[in-house]
Amino acid sequence: MGEVVRLAGLGVSRGVVAGPVVRMAAPPVLPAPRPVGDAEAEGAVVAGALEAVAAGLRERAAAAEGDAAEILGALAMIADDPMLREEAEQGVRDGLDAPHALDAAFTRHREAIAALGGYLAERAADLDDLRHRAVAFALGVPMPGLPSPGHPYVLAAEDLSPADTAGLGPDVLALVTAKGGPTSHTAILARGRGLPAVVACPGVMDLADGTYVCVDGVTGEVTAGISREEAEAACERDRLERERLAATGGPGRTADGRPVRLLLNIGSAADLVPGGEGVGLFRTEFLFLGREREPSFDEQVAAYAEVFGRAAHVVVRTLDAGTDKPLPFLGLPPEHNPALGMRGLRVDRVLPGVLDTQLDAIAEAARRTGAEAWVMAPMVATRDEAAGFAARARARGVARVGVMVEIPAAALLADRLLEEVDFLSVGTNDLSQYAFAADRQHPALADLLDPAQPALLRLVAACAEAGLAAGKPVGVCGEAAGDPALAPVLAGLGVTSLSMAPSCVPAVRDALSRHTYAECRELARAALS
Ligand code: PEP
Ligand code: MG
Repeated sequence: MGEVVRLAGLGVSRGVVAGPVVRMAAPPVLPAPRPVGDAEAEGAVVAGALEAVAAGLRERAAAAEGDAAEILGALAMIADDPMLREEAEQGVRDGLDAPHALDAAFTRHREAIAALGGYLAERAADLDDLRHRAVAFALGVPMPGLPSPGHPYVLAAEDLSPADTAGLGPDVLALVTAKGGPTSHTAILARGRGLPAVVACPGVMDLADGTYVCVDGVTGEVTAGISREEAEAACERDRLERERLAATGGPGRTADGRPVRLLLNIGSAADLVPGGEGVGLFRTEFLFLGREREPSFDEQVAAYAEVFGRAAHVVVRTLDAGTDKPLPFLGLPPEHNPALGMRGLRVDRVLPGVLDTQLDAIAEAARRTGAEAWVMAPMVATRDEAAGFAARARARGVARVGVMVEIPAAALLADRLLEEVDFLSVGTNDLSQYAFAADRQHPALADLLDPAQPALLRLVAACAEAGLAAGKPVGVCGEAAGDPALAPVLAGLGVTSLSMAPSCVPAVRDALSRHTYAECRELARAALS
C-alpha cells in the first residue's frame, strides 16, 4: 500500500463511497498539421480509429439496456459508416494527416446532418463525441467521453457538462471534478441522483486510473492509499447514518411544531421519490437539454402532466436557459457575458413564442390532471417584469403565479413584487452569484458563494419579512435549502418552505426537528450579524 494522499475539495452531494478512479479525458486538441509521408499507413490509422470507436460503442451497447443500448448501437453504426470512412481516407489521399482527415470528415457529416433538421439534427451533437474519440485514437491520447470500464468506478473529470452528468450510468459510484462550484449544475444533478460528489478538487486528475479512493461528499475529502478496511468502515458509518435519517418521516416541523414545508427540486418526473411534501422547483429546462428543436406543445403537456399527476403540489419554473444550461434549439447568439445576458425570463425579449407555448402547455397539463398549477419565472429583476409575467400566466388560468428571487434587485423589491404575485421562491445559487459578483462555477470563489454569508442571508431575510407582512409564502429553492446546518437559520428568518434535492430531505427534516422556532430565530439573528 502506498502513502495516504488526502485531496481537499468541496463536498456537494452527501454520501461516502470507495472504489477505483477512472478519469474522463478532455476532448483532444488538434496539433498543427504534419506532412504525410506514407499515405497508405496514414489511411490505416484512419480506418483503425473508426473501427476502435465503433468497437468501443458496440461493447458499451452490449452492456447497456433499453434506450441507452439503442443509442449506443446507433452511434456505433455511424462510426462504421463506409461513406464517413471513405471521406476520411480521401482526406488522407489529398494530403491530410489522419487526425485532420478524421476531423474534416466528421465536420462535414455534422453539417450535413444538422442541415436535415428534425430528429436527425438532434443527433448532430453526438457526432462531436465520435469525432473526439476518433481523433484521440489517431493522436494516441486517451479517448474522451464517459468511460465504461465494465466495473463500478469513481468518475474523475476536469469538469462535466449537464449532458455528461445526465448520461451517467449506474456504474458510477461518485463524481469528483477538478473544477466546478457548490451550486454548479454538476453539483445539482449529482444531488438530484443522490450520487456522492466532490467539486473543486484540483489534484484529482493526477490520480492514476484504477487508484482506490474513498470519497466523502460532505467533507469534500478524497483519500487515496487508504486501506480497504478503513474505507469500508467509513462507508458503513455513512450507511448507518443514512438509514437512521431515512427512518424519519412526515412533514417538516420545528421541535415545537411550526411547519416548514419540505419540497423537492426535480428536473423531470423521473426524479420524483416519496418523502417530500410536493415539488418546490421543477427545472423544466432539464427536459430540453441538448435538444436542437423546440419541444412541441404536446410533448410539453405530456411532460408537465406526468409530474402534476404524481405530486400533490408542484411549482413549475419556466425555462431557465443560458449560461451553463445552453439550449441549442433557442439558437441564441454567443454572448460576451452570458450570466449577465439573455437568460431566464429575459429570453422572452428576443424569442417571445417560447414562453407562450410553455405557459399554454403548463395550463393545459393542469386542466387535464385537475392539478392546481403554481408557476414561477426565473431571473426576474423588476416589478414590471413580475407584473407582465403574472398577467400572461393568469390569462391562461394558472392558479398561483410567483417569481424567483435570484437577482439582488428583486430581493430589495420583495415587498413590491408581492403586490404583483402570489409567492416568491429565493434562488440562493444565483442570488449569491449576483450579490457577490462571483461566478457560481468558479472553484476558487467557493467561500463567497457560501450561503451562510450574512449579506446573502440579509437578502433572504428581506424576502421572508415581505412574505410574512403580505401573508404570502416565501420559500428557498437554491442549494442552501438542502443544507441541514442552514435549514434552522432559514426557518428562523421566516422562510415557509425549503425545496431541495430529494436526497437532502431526511437530514433537513432531522435538523429542523431539533430546534424550536424561538431557537431558529436566535440562530437566524446570529447568522445575520
Ligand atoms: C438558483 O439560482 O438558486 C436556482 C434554484 O436556480 P438554478 O440553480 O436552476 O439556476
Ligand atoms: Mg437560478
